Amino acid sequence: MCLFCKIVNNEIAANKVMEDDNFIAFHDINPKAPVHILVIPKIHVESFNDVSSQMMADMTHFIQKLVGHVDIKTSGYRVITNVGDNGGQEVKHLHFHVLGGAKLRWGHFTDADPKDYL
Ligand code: 5GP
Ligand code: ZN
Repeated sequence: MCLFCKIVNNEIAANKVMEDDNFIAFHDINPKAPVHILVIPKIHVESFNDVSSQMMADMTHFIQKLVGHVDIKTSGYRVITNVGDNGGQEVKHLHFHVLGGAKLRWGHFTDADPKDYL
């Protein structure tokens, strides 16, 4: 069973922020911003490659509610999902990072020069 399935099954503790029948939001153990919450579906989906449009619709609604709940809706935030090796996905259970609480940096994501790929 994967790490996040264990969180769903309460086999590993997580600092939960919000939960409904289909999704859980909990604080990232290694936060990269003052607010860094992970949103996962309760059923195992490996990555964004495999998510259904219905689940995305429901998760969008859940995240919109979450950002209101933690009071970053108007100040702004970022929603990220890493996919596969190049995306830097470490846990192979779909999750969205919700980052906020301070001005987020926005810079080059790779040492490769993007202009070389134009
Ligand atoms: P990824 O790199 O797969 O996009 O993100 C995985 C995230 O899960 C990382 O930001 C990491 O800090 C977080 N993480 C890994 N293990 C745990 C855990 O046991 N509990 C919590 N709350 N977060 C975790
Ligand atoms: Zn899983």
